[in-house]
Amino acid sequence: MPVAHQVIHIHAEAPPKPPEGAPCNGCGVCCLAEPCPVGMLVSRKRHGACDLLRWSGAQGRYVCGLLADGDADDGLGRSDPPWRRLWRRLWRAWARRLISAGSGCDASIEVGPSQQK
Ligand code: SF4
Ligand code: SF4
Repeated sequence: MPVAHQVIHIHAEAPPKPPEGAPCNGCGVCCLAEPCPVGMLVSRKRHGACDLLRWSGAQGRYVCGLLADGDADDGLGRSDPPWRRLWRRLWRAWARRLISAGSGCDASIEVGPSQQK
């Protein structure tokens, strides 16, 4: 069976991909290779980097934009009304379940030597 190869562009500071089953360290390899089912729906594509993937310089890892965006502020110090914050919390909880956030790395992708540090 032929092995598929794909070139992905990854942040220089990203941690190396851990073995499958190890805790997720936010290396971003899976989401840069192709979106998960939620990412496909939201970013409207099936291949390539998910539009929702964000690099967090503060955390030194990739984060899912669905879960990372904080409560909005209108720039005048006024935050969203309670109903909108509740809606966002419910949406994040749903997304967290769908993308299996917090579980171990489920990507069987093998990373080539250029990513190894
Ligand atoms: S699930 Fe695995 S490949 Fe995806 S970001 Fe986490 S550690 Fe990296
Ligand atoms: S986990 Fe988030 S960033 Fe990664 S592919 Fe899914 S929606 Fe996109």
